[in-house]
Amino acid sequence: MKIRTRYAPSPTGKMHVGNLRSALYEFLIAKHEGGDFMLRIEDTDQERFMEGATELIYRTLEKTGITHDEGPDKDGGYGPYVQSERMKTGIYMKYARELIEKGEAYYCFCDKERLASLKTEVVEGKEISIYDKHCLHLSKEEVEANLAAGKPFVIRQNNPTEGSTTFHDELYGDITVENSELDDMILIKSDGYPTYNFANVVDDHTMNITHVVRGNEYLSSSPKYQRLYDAFGWESPVYVHLPLITDENHKKLAKRSGHASFEDLLEQGFLSEAVVNYIALLGWSPESNAEEKQSREIFSLEELIQEFDYHRISKSPAVFDMVKLRWMNGEYIKAMDFDRFYEMAEPYLKQVLTKDFDLKKIANMVKTRIEVFPDIGEHVDFFETLPEYDVEMYTHKKMKTDQASSLQVLRDVLPLLEIQEDFSNDGLYQMLLKYVEEKGVKNGYVMWPIRTAVSGKQMTPAGATEIMEVLGKEESLQRIRKGIDKLTNA
Ligand code: GLU
Repeated sequence: MKIRTRYAPSPTGKMHVGNLRSALYEFLIAKHEGGDFMLRIEDTDQERFMEGATELIYRTLEKTGITHDEGPDKDGGYGPYVQSERMKTGIYMKYARELIEKGEAYYCFCDKERLASLKTEVVEGKEISIYDKHCLHLSKEEVEANLAAGKPFVIRQNNPTEGSTTFHDELYGDITVENSELDDMILIKSDGYPTYNFANVVDDHTMNITHVVRGNEYLSSSPKYQRLYDAFGWESPVYVHLPLITDENHKKLAKRSGHASFEDLLEQGFLSEAVVNYIALLGWSPESNAEEKQSREIFSLEELIQEFDYHRISKSPAVFDMVKLRWMNGEYIKAMDFDRFYEMAEPYLKQVLTKDFDLKKIANMVKTRIEVFPDIGEHVDFFETLPEYDVEMYTHKKMKTDQASSLQVLRDVLPLLEIQEDFSNDGLYQMLLKYVEEKGVKNGYVMWPIRTAVSGKQMTPAGATEIMEVLGKEESLQRIRKGIDKLTNA
């Protein structure tokens, strides 16, 4: 049987990394087996609907390369692919009525006041009211009369009060719950829309979905879905509920922490390929790592497709480690094609550099040194203005320099630089090398004070001569003179 998976987001806001992981795993499961991956928009909760959220879903899938084979924009014969449109076809009502016929569901006409008066129970910290099956006992005539009178209604699932229901998850195994714990959940709401609880079952079945991957917050409702499958006499799909993603403090990812959504990560300068690679490893690891006792971590989407065996998904919560994502992003930046890198780096360079510098040269200097694009500024800002620096920086044990030796070197090289015509990196290097040889000292003994004087920084993305090439003759000489002044007055 051909594998068919679906990503079924609700258009309610930004793309949470948990949702992106579900989408990615669904995509990988399908593609690993040559199956189809489908996009279904679950917009039945009209109150949570957010303008623009559907477009954001499309943009994210496109950017990440998690490409759907079927969806609202690509008909594959199972449409419509948007739940509000499916509703208009009458599909949910038709199946709800089928359940009513079978005694597995019933009309409920209880008003708000009556529901508010029902007794409540605390389940997982939340207070919920358990419906008392009041309307299950209405006679057929009473139901007909209410419907004819246009009384508002919902349709509820009729769960047994005795026995138990078992449901199977690929990771969590068999989960059995007492039927007495299953609330008669609403299938069709008073506005005629199906609930997620009902629509996901009807849709997954009618769209021939074979594997469902979603967050484990749905685990507790799954026995109720199982009862729906059983009531219809349908085979349920393979379920894979994914472990929670936590932050570094083992708390649920919070919006303000900055790693909650894909858009937040992009805004912070992460590359979408790195984010996808990182998210793939949030709860999954490839078999080859276990076999070869290695921990390879860089995978392209193609390689993930090759490697993705969903049985290797872990049940334990996955920690979102920003330090590791930053490292991974740095690896992607290093491996990036220069032109694309430059295109992305340019705005960050221009934020701190307004003078007429060779930005491509500067970009090349930082490419292997940054983890995210916003790191660029602090590496290159000294080109724009020489920072205030401490003369202590001229002292370097390994280079065998101190303030006196540095002052001497700067005084010696200043006139040489003044008459130097070729201010290219190579030209400067050759000239200074001659001085080094004449003096019989080590390279660093000369280069360290020059680099300090022209950058005012302990760490720079390039050596003294490369920096001078970018700064140009006039600015370089000024900075060297300033260094001489500083050292003289120290
Ligand atoms: N619409 C649900 C959500 O966005 C989908 C859950 C599922 O995949 O079944 O959370």
